[in-house]
Amino acid sequence: MICFAIATDYLNRRTKKMTKEEIKELYSMRDILQRYGLPQPNRAGFICCPFHKEKTASMKIYKKDFHCFGCSAHGDIFTFVQLMDGISFKEAFNLLGGETDNSFSTRLKIYHAQKEREQKRKIEEKLKRKRDLNCELIRFYQKCLDRAEPLTDAWTDAYNALQYQEYLWEVLNDPNECYEVIKQLR
Ligand SMILES: [Zn+2]
Repeated sequence: MICFAIATDYLNRRTKKMTKEEIKELYSMRDILQRYGLPQPNRAGFICCPFHKEKTASMKIYKKDFHCFGCSAHGDIFTFVQLMDGISFKEAFNLLGGETDNSFSTRLKIYHAQKEREQKRKIEEKLKRKRDLNCELIRFYQKCLDRAEPLTDAWTDAYNALQYQEYLWEVLNDPNECYEVIKQLR
């Protein structure tokens, strides 16, 4: 009998539309992070903010809320889902169990947001590879310059190559110029 009661309760939970409070009761921020395959918070309770580019974690994860000290993104589990999937509050609410929303437009929005995130990640990776290679080449040509007899052909070649890599460094590390490079990477 007890088993039956538990099963019924479970089924009700599954099929019943939940209120905002019930949903908040059910999911913690950690559950939501897991939902998106994001890493769990570090010991201090921070993660790298998924809404702005950063290397050191500046988004504080509380039990039911989050706050980014880098870009000021802030809110509860619903806000997080909204920002991640580019959807409205109502859609986020439905998605988390408010009511079964399997509408095409919601699925499409989520699909686009996922693609967007994927593309952003790929571009970041490409950019990082370009920066690494650039730094390596700068070191390489500097060494060549040090070793070559000044004003010889070898020296001039190394000098020109170094000039170009230094120019590239400026471009790759300037957020505005970088945007142009990113467009080419797309
Ligand atoms: Zn942020």
